[in-house]
Amino acid sequence: MDEHGQSIGILIVATDVSAQVQNRLEKEHLDRQLMLAVASSGIGTWYIQPDTKALRYNDNLAKIYGYEAETNMTYDQAIGQVTEDYRPLIVTAIEEAIASGGDYDITFQQLRFNDGKLIWLRSIGRIVQDENGEHSIFSGVVIDVTAQKHEEQRKNDFISMVSHELKTPLTSMGGYIQILLSKAEQTNNPFATNVLAKANNQVKKMNTLINGFLNVSRLDSGNIHMEKTSFDIADLLKEIEEETLDTVLSHRIFFEPVVKAFIYADRNKIAQVINNLISNAVKYGPIGTTVTIRVHTTENTVQVSVQDLGRGIKSEDQLKVFDRFYRVESDQIGMVSGFGIGLYLCAEIINLHHGRIWVESESDKGSTFYFSLPLEK
Ligand code: ADP
Repeated sequence: MDEHGQSIGILIVATDVSAQVQNRLEKEHLDRQLMLAVASSGIGTWYIQPDTKALRYNDNLAKIYGYEAETNMTYDQAIGQVTEDYRPLIVTAIEEAIASGGDYDITFQQLRFNDGKLIWLRSIGRIVQDENGEHSIFSGVVIDVTAQKHEEQRKNDFISMVSHELKTPLTSMGGYIQILLSKAEQTNNPFATNVLAKANNQVKKMNTLINGFLNVSRLDSGNIHMEKTSFDIADLLKEIEEETLDTVLSHRIFFEPVVKAFIYADRNKIAQVINNLISNAVKYGPIGTTVTIRVHTTENTVQVSVQDLGRGIKSEDQLKVFDRFYRVESDQIGMVSGFGIGLYLCAEIINLHHGRIWVESESDKGSTFYFSLPLEK
């Protein structure tokens, strides 16, 4: 290469190097800005070396955990502060996230180091590559959610208290209506019989609502009681069919034939799930349309589905409808009464039975809710 060519070569290299330097400076600047933003937000950050479990963290995390910034907390110390209920869950979640490279998102309770106070933390993390793209590192953020948790607790306590208080007078009212109803039937008074039967239905509806709230607060405090027995799901569906055909007149409810299938579960709670799915199908399906209930048995599981021809649920909402108090935003939702707890309770009940619940749906075509449970061995 001649002298001229060489100088061009050097120039290109120099331009390349200066572009790299420029990029690096820009990246460092952005990193510094990000660190400042994280520091002022109070968010804790952590990095765990997957093999050695060496832990690094920022000053915010030290403060959240109740340490002076310069104190050195080890991974084992950090895990040791978590309450016994949550410790195994956290260790498993970390191991799983490291092994699978999946996301880690867990809310747990732990003792603060300096004053032993119980606090709630939410920790979110994932496996990322280090700056050279060579080694994986498990890193994430932690936020103190104690205030939100206490707020939630107060709300739950309030709901539970109000529900308990409403239950007693409602039970008496139901009793009086029953007495009047049988009197009206005996004295052959069709008008009073009709009106009282309607009043009785309203009391039943209100009872279901209140029980829903009570169940939510019991679930939150881990006090939900399961009474598992062995029973035939075909029998249960027969009962539900008779009850539904008696009470729902606005839609065509079609129960496909069911073969015997025994499960070991809480019969009333499984009935509650099926009734809830049917009442949603009726609530969200136009009057006069068909709701179909099917049961499908495989070698190990029984699957129940409830199909409606309603307005459907968009894919982005299909997982969220099982969240507590979640209601899909739409023009019509204001007209349909509800609190967004029915499907949450269904999902919790099915999870407590080691089953699965999901929905398949297409906008304006309808939805099919499914749940499956293990068959009794
Ligand atoms: P609620 O019906 O009391 O609001 P749910 O927990 O039973 O509460 O349901 C949550 C939300 O999911 C509902 O508000 C509704 O938007 C949506 N949803 C439930 N079932 C259906 C259905 N069959 N078709 C369309 N949307 C439904």
